[in-house]
Amino acid sequence: MAHFPDLAPRAASGGKSDVSIGWLSSGHAFPTGAVPPEFTSALARLREVPFALTRGFHVCEFCMRNREDDSHRFDACSASWNSPEYGNGEILVLSETGVAYVAPRLVLHYVTEHGYRPPQEFIDAVLFQSRRWARGDRPVSFGYTSVWVAVRGRTPIDVVEALRLTSVVPVAWADGIDAAYGGRVFVAPPLDGWVLAASTQFPDSGDGDHPDRATPFVEALSQRFGEVQYFGTHRVVEWHAWARAINGTFTRKFSWIGERGEVLWNEGARTDVERELHVGVEPDGTDDVQFPDEEHVLTIAAQWGVGPGTLDDRTDAPRLGYEGRLRPA
Ligand SMILES: [Zn+2]
Repeated sequence: MAHFPDLAPRAASGGKSDVSIGWLSSGHAFPTGAVPPEFTSALARLREVPFALTRGFHVCEFCMRNREDDSHRFDACSASWNSPEYGNGEILVLSETGVAYVAPRLVLHYVTEHGYRPPQEFIDAVLFQSRRWARGDRPVSFGYTSVWVAVRGRTPIDVVEALRLTSVVPVAWADGIDAAYGGRVFVAPPLDGWVLAASTQFPDSGDGDHPDRATPFVEALSQRFGEVQYFGTHRVVEWHAWARAINGTFTRKFSWIGERGEVLWNEGARTDVERELHVGVEPDGTDDVQFPDEEHVLTIAAQWGVGPGTLDDRTDAPRLGYEGRLRPA
C-alpha cells in the first residue's frame, strides 16, 4: 500500500487538502499505544460508510510479512482485513474545526491488531463525531414537504456516486434529515434492502411554468440501478407525486398539483394501494378518486417498499449514512 506520513496533506477536490492518517507500510515505523475504547468502536462504525471504493484493495503489509514465519497467526490476523468490508476503500473524518482526515478502511485493523496509535488530533476528531452521532443516530421519520428516491438492492455509496454529490461526509440520521430539509442531500443507511435519499432540492415533476426534471432524473437512476422509486410532496401547493421505474422505464408515474388542479403525470396502471386509497387516476379516466395528500404518498411508499413516515419506530437500522450537496443543474 502507498505510504503517506500521518498528517501529510493530500490533494482533494475544490483546491482543499485532506490530511492523511494511517497509511502504514512495512518499511516505516509507526507510533503505538493505547486508544480509548470509544475511539475503536467509532472507527468500526465509520467502516460502514466508506469512500473511494474503486481505488484498489489494500492489504496489511505487517500481516503479509508474518506469513512465512507464522502462517497460523497470519490466517487469524488476515481474516480481519482480507475482505471487501475491510481492505477496500477509505474513511473520512471531519474534526470540530473542519479538518478532513482520510484513512484507509484498514486503519481499524492497524489499531486493534498492531497497536497503532494515530495522532491525538485524529483521535479527537473521531471522538467528536462519535459524540455527535450519539445525539441522533436512531432513524428519523420524514416525508412531509420533501422529495425522496428509493433504490433497491444497492449500497448508500453507490447512490452517493450516482447522484454525483460533492462535499460528502458520513452523518447520523438526525443530522442527515436536517441536511435534507436544508437543501442538501441525505443518503440514508440501508433499510429492508432499499437505500433512501432525500432532499428538498431534488427535481420535481414541473408544471406549466417550468419543466419536468424529475422524469430524466429517475430514468437515469433506474437505468443504472434497476428499480428506483420517486416520491414528492409539497403541502403549500398541494403537489404530490409517486413513480416507479425499472431499468429506465416507468411502470407507474402519477403527479398532481392541487393549486392548479392539474394531473401532471399519469402513466401506467394504478397499483393496488392506490386503488385502496382511491387516489391516482386510471389512464382510461375512470373516476373513482379523491385528491391525494401527503399521507397518501407516505402510505404508497410504505406499500411499495419503505415508508419514511414511520422510521421513528425502527430499532434495527444502521446508524450512519452520507450527507452531500447536489451539483448545480
Ligand atoms: Zn495486519
